[in-house]
Amino acid sequence: DQEMALHSREVIHTLTAAGHETYWVGGCVRDELLGRAIHDMDLTTSAEPEQVIALFPHVIPTGIQHGTVTVMQGGHAFEVTTFRTESGYADHRRPTEVAFVKDIRQDLMRRDFTMNAIAMDKYGARVDPFGGEADLRAALVRCVGRAEERFEEDGLRMLRCIRFASVFRFRVAFNTWKGMIRRREGLRFIAMERVRVELEKMLSGPDPLRGLEMLRRSGLLACTKVPVPWEQCERDALSGIVELPDELRWGLLLLSCRLTSETADELLRAWTFSNAVRLRLVHLLEWEAELVSCAVVIAVDSASHKDDEFHDEALRRSWIRLLIKLGRDTALDWLELYKTLPPSFRGLSSGADMHVARMAELANSWTKQAAVIRIKDLNITGNVLVQAMNRPGGPWLGQTLEQLLLAAACGDIPNETEALLQEAKRVTKRVI
Ligand code: ATP
Ligand code: MG
Repeated sequence: DQEMALHSREVIHTLTAAGHETYWVGGCVRDELLGRAIHDMDLTTSAEPEQVIALFPHVIPTGIQHGTVTVMQGGHAFEVTTFRTESGYADHRRPTEVAFVKDIRQDLMRRDFTMNAIAMDKYGARVDPFGGEADLRAALVRCVGRAEERFEEDGLRMLRCIRFASVFRFRVAFNTWKGMIRRREGLRFIAMERVRVELEKMLSGPDPLRGLEMLRRSGLLACTKVPVPWEQCERDALSGIVELPDELRWGLLLLSCRLTSETADELLRAWTFSNAVRLRLVHLLEWEAELVSCAVVIAVDSASHKDDEFHDEALRRSWIRLLIKLGRDTALDWLELYKTLPPSFRGLSSGADMHVARMAELANSWTKQAAVIRIKDLNITGNVLVQAMNRPGGPWLGQTLEQLLLAAACGDIPNETEALLQEAKRVTKRVI
């Protein structure tokens, strides 16, 4: 973003004019050299936080103890961090001590990978003491310093390593890989939230299967706090993963491990997904499982019915039941998933497979036709029913409403109060 670059240049200019050495550093320099889009620009400076604060009118003290302040310039936020060293790392994640230093090289030394340890000044000149540019050209992820020590300090770096290798389609330098394997147990100390964020970035990238393969080969997944059972995922099921939007990629992955929706639910909770994402994925798995069992049942019934219309009607009713239970959004998600999932994955009889395919084919028109799929869409309320039937509320009421909903959703009766009342009288007679 040109404008962001311009404003970050102004920040650098203000600091250097006041006599403080200042650079772009880390991800933005790396992404610039790779010709990739830059999403945020971090700066590093010899100025101490108070000096930075004194130079700019709009500053947020993000993490002064660690030397980081956020400078607002032209509507953009820039993290400006004082050159510093780190030590301690008692918890395998965060340094216990940071010290401000005057030499950019010392600051670069604390960074994880050579490609993330390049600083660039406002003339475009680079400070690159560890050969980061050469590694970028060679498409290599390499630790700054001794890999084993760096991974021991902070276990999250191992997942960052695989994430970068996956997203950039890089290889991992031999010693870095070896160090990672030796220190993989250290992943146990990393909060699942951090683990999830790295896996999300990896999975959203252009080649998630590359990352998954590296995770499998390194044995890292067995070392996370909450195990990630991707070891058992079926590669064939994942071949279309890049065609899916980010969140659904997780759905395909869970499915490819043949997890039940209950197990998936527990895992997604433990991996600290938001409720919204968790429910979205759990519903997707439920949809798949229930749709498959409907297709199987209908295929078994097929023996006695050779009539296609009969099948279509049974399939339509199954679909509408699912719509009522899990909602339209899940229907759309499942259709996207369906397009990428090879039919062989389900291992169904050819009859059942055909039914699944038929549902996918007709789903859009069925979904459009079903105008009523929630109880509150019905043109009748529980109160009206209680009065019309002259009967106190009780379990019958919910059951009746559900039956009305199914009948209206399937188009058996119109969604009109009179018709619904009549139907209610008919079905409750049966219930009594
Ligand atoms: P992206 O933002 O694209 O995910 P990034 O490299 O910019 O990648 P950030 O988390 O924004 O990642 O970190 C900015 C910089 O801070 C990195 O480029 C690296 O120099 C340094 N850094 C980040 N995390 C670590 C870490 N765990 N250990 C050492 N240095 C790190
Ligand atoms: Mg960044």
